[in-house]
Amino acid sequence: MKTDQEIVEIAFKYKDTLPKPIASDFRVFAILKTVSNDLIMGLNFEATPIGSAICAERAALSTWYRSADRVPLDTVYVVTDSQDLITPGSLCREMLLEAGLPSLTVICATKNIMKKQTIGELYPYGSVYRNIERSQLVSFAQQIQKKALPFPGEWNLFYQIVYQKLKDNLPKMLLHPIYLAAGVLYPDGHIRMSYQFQALEYGCSVDPIIGQSGSIEGFLAGRKNQHLKILQMDQFGVCHSPYAKARAYFSEKTIFQDNVVEILFHHRNYSNNSIELTQEYVQNFLPAPPNIFNASL
Ligand SMILES: [Zn+2]
Repeated sequence: MKTDQEIVEIAFKYKDTLPKPIASDFRVFAILKTVSNDLIMGLNFEATPIGSAICAERAALSTWYRSADRVPLDTVYVVTDSQDLITPGSLCREMLLEAGLPSLTVICATKNIMKKQTIGELYPYGSVYRNIERSQLVSFAQQIQKKALPFPGEWNLFYQIVYQKLKDNLPKMLLHPIYLAAGVLYPDGHIRMSYQFQALEYGCSVDPIIGQSGSIEGFLAGRKNQHLKILQMDQFGVCHSPYAKARAYFSEKTIFQDNVVEILFHHRNYSNNSIELTQEYVQNFLPAPPNIFNASL
């Protein structure tokens, strides 16, 4: 059995011989270790339009998923071209949490330092539908709806309005059974809505929260201590924590640190499947963001 240090050295050995990706010129190499000590590797792969890049962690996950036995994951190792520690980004955290337990270990390493965290720490409040198969999604959502929890006073009317608008705007045909909308409540009581666009290729779908980024930024620009409330909801009235792209947005845009922006969502305690209504500030959904801005490359 190899030690963490030995596996990190293997990751560097591979990474250092591989070509640099076309758009970022920045290599990331990931190794997934299963509980039976198999090592599965992945390298980032990019096209010139960098938004469709596949990260090393997700490349490795795809290889793991196609393996016949799909042995549970134990540890994820990530090394990069940077001399600083780089944690997995939002999309990879989201997918790693779907593939493993919240206790899955994530080790980020440079040639000198190693940092160990769990995916549960890096991606708190994962999807309320985590690991529910597509065929079971609707009945699971309806179960949550039946056990509807009372919304705290100041959220209750906001919730009712967003839910009604969502039902009024529900497309007749859905490409995915869960359809999302987002409502943003401004200090003057005005609610602005946006709706998910479900693209044929799922990765091209438009996140409803990101769909409001222009108006949110337009309002918050140059201001401080403004209070906004956000609900991201599906057609069953189930409220969702932000998805990966919205988390990256909240974590990297500094306007959210100067203002009070909160989200209320149904949170599933995976250990006993209980549902709790949880309220959180938007900048807390992506702890320890990748330190790419100060990294020495
Ligand atoms: Zn990534």
